[in-house]
Amino acid sequence: MQILDNNIAIILAAGSGTRANLNLPKQFEILGDKPILNWSIDAFLKSKKFKKIIVVLPQNHDENLWTNSYADKIEIVFGGKERNDSVSNALNNYSEANFEHIFIHDAARPGIDIDYLNLMIENFSNDIDGIIPVLNCNDAMWLVKDELLFDNIDRVNLKRAQTPQAFKFKKYLNARKNSLLNNNIFDDAQISVNYGLKVKYMEGNQKLDKITFKSDFQKMDNILMSETLVSRNGIGFDAHKFCEGKELILCGVKIPYEFGLDGHSDADVAWHALVDAILGAIGEGDIGQAFPPSEAKWKGAPSSVFLEYARDKVNEKNALIENIDLSIICEAPKIGPYREELRISTAKLLRINTNNVNIKATTTEKMGFTGRKEGIAAMASATILMKRGKNVF
Ligand code: MG
Repeated sequence: MQILDNNIAIILAAGSGTRANLNLPKQFEILGDKPILNWSIDAFLKSKKFKKIIVVLPQNHDENLWTNSYADKIEIVFGGKERNDSVSNALNNYSEANFEHIFIHDAARPGIDIDYLNLMIENFSNDIDGIIPVLNCNDAMWLVKDELLFDNIDRVNLKRAQTPQAFKFKKYLNARKNSLLNNNIFDDAQISVNYGLKVKYMEGNQKLDKITFKSDFQKMDNILMSETLVSRNGIGFDAHKFCEGKELILCGVKIPYEFGLDGHSDADVAWHALVDAILGAIGEGDIGQAFPPSEAKWKGAPSSVFLEYARDKVNEKNALIENIDLSIICEAPKIGPYREELRISTAKLLRINTNNVNIKATTTEKMGFTGRKEGIAAMASATILMKRGKNVF
């Protein structure tokens, strides 16, 4: 089915959020790197399926509490006494509008994303008037009375509703009008069902759960942050001069050549540059800090020790090496024939896919120390994916 973009969204953020016992109304608390409210606005905006996005805010909110960098892309209205009043305020100017669907969403559910919004729109068909995400009730459900268990409820037919709740716009407006006329004020799903709309449920998502209490905030922070990776880049450079009587090692591979490289360790110039690139990306200083040349124990050490150290640091931070790019700069020997071997060796040690490692070779056109065949230089770049910095209590 073609995904239409003639839709309207109402993001309800007018609550005072007192149950969460936070310093601010919960929709303004910072989750990850932005206020909870901004998570929902971003999802609706990025989906590009909404012609109109209305955000309903508390009348007396402090404008510094959230990031309104959306200029004219969203419309702001103020909330009413109850949720239903807020929806009415949002729809005030649109009673004659001609949108395809209306999505009504609680800002306290920051886990909404583009994929889910698209899925909801795709799930509409001619004979369905509304769609609501639900989850099964996995716990035993009881009616209680006078502080005692009263009656067990069969949970098989019970679902707990989440948002966004989506409806065909015209049909929803009609149901809503009738509901208001009869002074039957319910939530959007109830209005729709009571006035004969066919509302389908679809499998919800833990991410769509509402933040009500402080513990919910921590739970949602874990869920959303585990998905939110940021990319960090680091660079490294190293040079070693040729010497006699040593094997030439590049990326852990022995390269047949008349000289080796001079240095405290095995002087694997390529991996040294790479270690610095990786440590740089994760903010862990440099190879000299971790393995001071003054320490006798690193004499003659294979550079795999240093690269393993950097790799393990990345793992400790629960980060991922996304890709490595390494340039080896020398007049001789020729690196080209060993390129694949160096690539495989590096990928194997870092435990990443060979496709994510690139090895380049170049010369300096006979200029400078590499041009005079005095040694080899190497430059490396590493891209690391890390969890976004947590901003919790
Ligand atoms: Mg070095």
